[in-house]
Amino acid sequence: MPAKGWIQVNDLYCKGCELCVAACPPKVLALNMERLTPKGYHPVHIVKDGCTGCAICALVCPDAAITVYREVTKAAVPVAAGG
Ligand code: SF4
Ligand code: SF4
Repeated sequence: MPAKGWIQVNDLYCKGCELCVAACPPKVLALNMERLTPKGYHPVHIVKDGCTGCAICALVCPDAAITVYREVTKAAVPVAAGG
């Protein structure tokens, strides 16, 4: 199962260029046409499940507007030993 991730977009930096939208492998990003940033751009947001936290969007963003988070799953530990 792929990792679960999510992103935060800084409205002060995003200029709606859509480079991250094109680069996202599972295609979960789009511009939010219902909001404007303080500079008057439509900011990017996640529109569906499937973000893996791969961080490609953050790497391609020319304005460092994206912070990526990835869920960390705990390692399995033995709770009973047989034979
Ligand atoms: S690449 Fe950066 S500036 Fe461009 S739309 Fe994505 S978050 Fe905004
Ligand atoms: S972290 Fe990866 S999967 Fe998630 S929005 Fe960014 S490019 Fe897409």
